[in-house]
Amino acid sequence: MTITYMYWLVVASLVLAIIASYAAFSFAERITVSKGARFWGWLTGGAVAMGLGIWSMHYVGMFAVRLPVQVTYHVPTVLASLLLAVVASAIALSVVSRPKLGVPQIALGGVLMGAAIGGMHYVGMAAMRSSAMHHYNHALVGLSLVVAVAFSWMALWISFFLRKDRVQQEWLRMGGAILMGSGISAMHYTAMAAVTFVPGDMVYRFAGTMRVSTLGIVAVVLTTVCVLFGALLTAFFDRLTYQKLQDSHNRLVDAQEALIQSELALREANFTLRKLSIYDGLTGVHNRRHFDETLEAELKRAARSKLNLSLLMIDVDCFKALNDRHGHLAGDECLRKIAGEFTSKIRRPQDIVSRYGGEEFAVILPGANAQWAFELAESLRLAIENLKIANNGSRVGPFVTVSVGLDTRVPEVGEPVDEIVAAADAALYLAKTQGRNRTQSTTQIGERVEKK
Ligand code: GH3
Ligand code: MG
Ligand code: MG
Repeated sequence: MTITYMYWLVVASLVLAIIASYAAFSFAERITVSKGARFWGWLTGGAVAMGLGIWSMHYVGMFAVRLPVQVTYHVPTVLASLLLAVVASAIALSVVSRPKLGVPQIALGGVLMGAAIGGMHYVGMAAMRSSAMHHYNHALVGLSLVVAVAFSWMALWISFFLRKDRVQQEWLRMGGAILMGSGISAMHYTAMAAVTFVPGDMVYRFAGTMRVSTLGIVAVVLTTVCVLFGALLTAFFDRLTYQKLQDSHNRLVDAQEALIQSELALREANFTLRKLSIYDGLTGVHNRRHFDETLEAELKRAARSKLNLSLLMIDVDCFKALNDRHGHLAGDECLRKIAGEFTSKIRRPQDIVSRYGGEEFAVILPGANAQWAFELAESLRLAIENLKIANNGSRVGPFVTVSVGLDTRVPEVGEPVDEIVAAADAALYLAKTQGRNRTQSTTQIGERVEKK
């Protein structure tokens, strides 16, 4: 029996298949990023819209075939084929929205999806009722199923790339939709080629069947297009909202990162400030301000707990001469070396070495008695002498030496800081007048006065 095609309906069926495929890719993306109720909402809505698209494409394709006999359709079978299309779509969408999408998922998903699309087509065909007999060419039926599975694989594979490649997404989606739409049509028309209608006088029951008018076809196409566009628009706005949310999330993360960075910078700046406020820039030992604060605190503590407090005042001998002979840079270097030597010799954590001013250093020794402090002072003095830093202009010898003044006391409560400093200074003065490069203790001064 010769059949003719109404080409405008063939084109309409192809366009429908492409729109349905485009919608399918959009739904797949929405489903992938949704959770909970939104996930199920998108899966159900997506499967219905996409199923409706595929289904009406098939019927439009079938109506495109003009038979010289009257054809009616069995409504329950038509509905069953719609159900199959929705099931095929649900399978496809749930496969591509799986957290893990690899070869096994794509392979199995493609077979199920192809089988459902093929099944839908042949169930749809079974809904046809006419006086003509129709025969199937089994090879072409097989081929149509292979085409259905192959294109399903391709569609799933494209959606796999759509997930990965965010930049080329729109192009991929459109290309994928055209490919997939053509695939569904190819499957359909291969299946149509598999059927031959033979004139006959088949008797069939009219119960539950329906004739389809051109108006009916137009109504199906328009309804499907409306549903698909509605769903697509929803997907579009959902994507916009999601992107906005994602953008603000990203901005928040950036702001948080910037906050962490500035907090780190602030901490670093604080650390540097604290360093600058308590250390001497040239020598690296504590500065005068820290010395003053520490001495006051230690004096109070010693007075409260009635413990010894020793203070060393150390002055470089004939330093002016070193500066004059060797230059200020050599003088600076000498101060650094002396400070380094003191720091390495003073081990107790509570002892504080500081630069009192110019070429004068001070050492606070909490809890140290006169004897222990004197021995420490002597070891410092000898260590500097042993550094053998040239000072040719010195009246003491060829090398840099220091004089040390020492005071040890158990301070009175409320005693001013000046007294211990003045006492250590006086001892230092004595060390200088007695020839330099020596340690002078106020205890010895006291002893000497008593002896006199
Ligand atoms: P004395 O044995 O009596 O202490 O003799 P002196 O030459 O050390 O005497 P004085 O204390 O008067 O000299 C200290 C010199 O130290 C004067 C100053 O130019 C120098 N001076 C102070 N601070 C610095 C510094 O940071 N670097 C250098 N290179 N010299 C300094
Ligand atoms: Mg000096
Ligand atoms: Mg001095």
